Formats: sequence, C-alpha cells, structure tokens
Amino acid sequence: MLRQFITHIVQKGLVDYIPLSTVIAVEPVGKQCVVKDAKGNTFKAERVFICNGAEYRTLFPELFSTSGLMICKLQMMQTAVQQHYTLPHSILSNLSIRRYPAFKSSPSYRLLQEQRVDESIRDYGIHLLFKQASDGSVIIGDSHEYKAFQDANMSEESTNCLINEAILQYGQQVITLPSWHIQKKWNGYYLIHPQREVYAEAIDDKIHVVTGIAGKGMSTGPGFARQHIFSAVLAT
Ligand SMILES: Cc1cc2nc3c(=O)[nH]c(=O)nc-3n(C[C@H](O)[C@H](O)[C@H](O)COP(=O)(O)OP(=O)(O)OC[C@H]3O[C@@H](n4cnc5c(N)ncnc54)[C@H](O)[C@@H]3O)c2cc1C
Repeated sequence: MLRQFITHIVQKGLVDYIPLSTVIAVEPVGKQCVVKDAKGNTFKAERVFICNGAEYRTLFPELFSTSGLMICKLQMMQTAVQQHYTLPHSILSNLSIRRYPAFKSSPSYRLLQEQRVDESIRDYGIHLLFKQASDGSVIIGDSHEYKAFQDANMSEESTNCLINEAILQYGQQVITLPSWHIQKKWNGYYLIHPQREVYAEAIDDKIHVVTGIAGKGMSTGPGFARQHIFSAVLAT
C-alpha cells in the first residue's frame, strides 16, 4: 500500500519525495529547524517529524538511549514456489490470536490463554501467520526477541537457526504444504516501548520524534500519523 501511496502523492504533486537520502542532523535554529543529509543538502522547515523506524543510532542517539525503547527482532521465511497449490486464505494460528489483544472479544480468546505452549515457542515469541505470495510461495512469520539497545550489540545482524527450526516444526502442525523447502529467510526490526503504545517526543516544540509503534504500524500507522500531525500542529 505504501509503495503505491508514495507514487500517488508524488504524481499528484503533494510532496517532494527525496529517496536514498540519510538525514544526519536536525537542529532547531531560531524559529526554524535545519535538516542536513549525508549528501550535503540542507533543508529548512518550521516543523520536522522524525519517523526513524528502528534506526536509533543516527539522530538524537542520547534521547533514544534514555527513552526506554527496546528493539524487537523478527525472523521470517518464504517457501519455494508451491506447485499446483492454492492457500485460499491467509492463516492466523491460535498463537497469533492469543498474542493480540484485538482478539480479546473472540469467544476462543480465553480458552487459548489457558493452553500450554512449548518453551521454545514461548521464549522466542513465536506466533504463526501464513500468506501465499503471488508467485505461489508461502510467507511464514514470525518470532519476536526483545533487547535493550545496550544489549542488542550485533545480535541484530545474525539469524538464530533454532528459532527458524521451531517455527517450521510448529508450522507443520498447523498446515500441510506440498513443499517446506525454504527459499528466503530474513530478519525485520521495530522499536517498542514497554509502557507506551507509540513513542512521541517533541524537542523545542518543533522537532517531533515519532517511532515505536511496534507490531501494529502497518495496520494503524497511517491513521495514527494523521491524528498525530493534527494534534502536534494544534498544540503549538
Ligand atoms: C517482520 C515484521 C512483520 C510485521 N508485521 C506487521 C503486521 O502484521 N501488522 C502490522 O500492523 N505491523 C507489522 N509490523 C510492524 C510495522 O512494519 C511497523 O510498525 C511499521 O513499519 C513502523 O512504521 P514506521 O514508519 O514507524 O517505521 P518504518 O516502516 O521502519 O520506516 C522508517 C523509515 O525511516 C528510514 N530512516 C530511518 N532513519 C533515517 C534517517 N536518518 N534518514 C533517512 N531515513 C531514515 C528507514 O530507512 C525507514 O525506511 C511488522 C514488522 C516487521 C519487521
């Protein structure tokens, strides 16, 4: 959706979109903010919104180190193309339903909470979703490991094979696929705050740092962004 949305708003002339640019500094200067990118370009604005996702080391690293935010690492996989096989719907396992409070009103939610879960599944925060991609392969995810920034070190870079094995073992109990051959594995990251649904801090009322929407940003991010921009602008 977002890829199509960016093309749409650029074509409509609603934004100047500058891809492949890393912002390396944002500073309040008088009534304005000055933004510098790694190519040496400088931009000026009355307000700046920093939606840095999981990148906590480039802009305002001191703010992030005391923010209480944590990094969540997720492992995902994609099977080989499944021959002559159609998964008619995306599949959400019972572990997904018990994980998300959005399902609390479901009659089975309470029963699922009472079910025993294997240690490896619980410790690695595994819950399973299956979705067939347009080429016929099946995307399987995911696990959730939470670390404080100072403990993350380079563990973000590596893949824990035990987690992928646990995902596949559990997955094979949930659905039957013609092939469990894996063609791709990858890791994803987001920031999460133990007490806050979204992390939003304003610096000098002009620089708005907004991240840490955690595992719900794909579904709720666009709505939250709209609401947040209105309230940030109205507050000043
Ligand atoms: C594996 C995985 C599965 C997920 N599944 C779901 C799901 O099923 N449902 C759901 O709702 N959410 C899901 N999420 C969460 C969702 O992807 C995030 O909540 C969402 O992407 C957060 O949006 P964001 O705009 O805050 O950050 P991001 O999407 O991370 O975007 C931040 C962008 O800022 C860029 N950036 C950072 N620093 C700089 C800089 N200094 N200069 C320039 N650019 C910079 C980054 O490169 C990135 O492109 C999942 C996440 C992962 C990793």
